[in-house]
Amino acid sequence: MGVSPSKRSKARTRRKRTAWSKLTVTGAMSCPQCHEPKLPHRMCPSCGYYKNREVAPKVEQTAAAE
Ligand SMILES: [Zn+2]
Repeated sequence: MGVSPSKRSKARTRRKRTAWSKLTVTGAMSCPQCHEPKLPHRMCPSCGYYKNREVAPKVEQTAAAE
């Protein structure tokens, strides 16, 4: 059962809110190849490019193979 907002102090609310906000991914950048959002120092999940070269071929949908 939840705690009523009137019973919760401002400090407690703000402390919880701060902890929650740190769960979100920070430092995300966009891919220079396809401009999709990606993590720094990681291969782009969208186009498979890293450091201006393709390190992993893009996985095609299985519909093309059939
Ligand atoms: Zn990309």
